[in-house]
Amino acid sequence: MASHMVAKSVLATRSACTAPPGGVGRALLRHTAGTALLQGAQYHRRQAAAAGQPSRQRRLVAVSVAAPAAAGPHASPVYGGEMNAAVEAVRLASRLCQAVQVQLQRGEKTEKDDESPVTVADYGAQALVAWSLQRSFPGQAVSLVAEEDAVELRAPEGADMLARIAALVNEALAVEHPQAAPLSPSEVADLIDSGNSAGGGSGRHWVLDPIDGTRGFVGMRQYAVCLGLLEQGEVVLGVLGCPNLPQYAISEADCDEGQAGRSFSDEAVGTMFAACKDQGSWAGPVFGGMPSQRIFCNDTLPASQVRYMESFEARHSNHDMALAIADEIGITLPSLRLDSQAKYGALSRGDASVFMRFPDPSYREKIWDHCAGVIILQEAGAVISDAAGHPLDFSKGRYFPDLHGGIVAATPSMHRAIIAAIQKIRGGSS
Ligand code: AMP
Ligand code: MG
Repeated sequence: MASHMVAKSVLATRSACTAPPGGVGRALLRHTAGTALLQGAQYHRRQAAAAGQPSRQRRLVAVSVAAPAAAGPHASPVYGGEMNAAVEAVRLASRLCQAVQVQLQRGEKTEKDDESPVTVADYGAQALVAWSLQRSFPGQAVSLVAEEDAVELRAPEGADMLARIAALVNEALAVEHPQAAPLSPSEVADLIDSGNSAGGGSGRHWVLDPIDGTRGFVGMRQYAVCLGLLEQGEVVLGVLGCPNLPQYAISEADCDEGQAGRSFSDEAVGTMFAACKDQGSWAGPVFGGMPSQRIFCNDTLPASQVRYMESFEARHSNHDMALAIADEIGITLPSLRLDSQAKYGALSRGDASVFMRFPDPSYREKIWDHCAGVIILQEAGAVISDAAGHPLDFSKGRYFPDLHGGIVAATPSMHRAIIAAIQKIRGGSS
């Protein structure tokens, strides 16, 4: 990053919420534009207020700091174009997801426990991301590793659902890209199937979970549209669209049902996270411009003040195991239970310090459930590994190799403590 840094005199908000591992200097929020600064200051006042900090701890200070010439995740000289494309694709898919949730909330077309709305939104979001990426990189072969395929939709019984998906896709395109020609059902099926790449450790692959946290989506809780980019097996870029996640620090209330309803009416609900290798992690409104608020994980808290996050769904992660580990290292606050990679975004901006995931041993983890979130965590200063402390290996195709029973993401000090606690509790067997 150093090569495109220029000295700038800017106002910055000093907030304990965003103190980075590197110390106070990096804790200063960097902005080159007054409007971005104002938004950032408001954002952090709200974050601090939500975290219960007394107002005298928050003040505006004039400082001289080095800031990138065009601050933001898109400032990368290598992946700037890809970042713009990823943000546009995730935003388009997020629009479709939110439109389906509005229908769901109104009880239109479906009963609440009917799985079809989420299925339709899943497919539709995948088609839109594929369309958007292909539009951004004309003439290039876009390799996309994505969760869904159109096999069932191409069968005669799938025709009605495919038609519903095509209608939704065209509605979203009409809003965001009115000049685009409507897509036929068979074009939509082809777009969905373009996500069948095997991925791997060579070349460039986009990695998509069109709706991570489908149970949260149906339950009107949290979900995320997750798009990452692999280069030679390494995650170099990630974008998370979290339409139901507040832009300020979350509490237990934000994990419950009802978040979807708030996101339709409260303009401070709906967050996008974006990170690019060596460019830091950034947050902003999911339906705004490029995320412009630099974020950092918070490694300043003693264990007694640390929050940990885990899956909302007990069937996805062993809550008892996480509690035992929390006890072992002196965490006393209850967990925040949240669906999807929204957890990775929340950790990256300091809402919590720890994320633990311990699925059933028979469960095979897929790369799209972690790809985008991993780089957002890393660029915010957090550490993510499997349960034995090894880095996640994205170079082996659509599934991860053995993860030794789980995934841990945390601030550096908490990560060390948790891996040691896991080894102790498991008798050093991992
Ligand atoms: P979370 O919301 O963090 O619990 O994670 C959501 C993701 O968990 C989904 O996108 C699924 O890919 C994944 N998942 C589905 N079934 C299971 C399972 N039985 N155990 C663990 N993870 C699962
Ligand atoms: Mg998923």
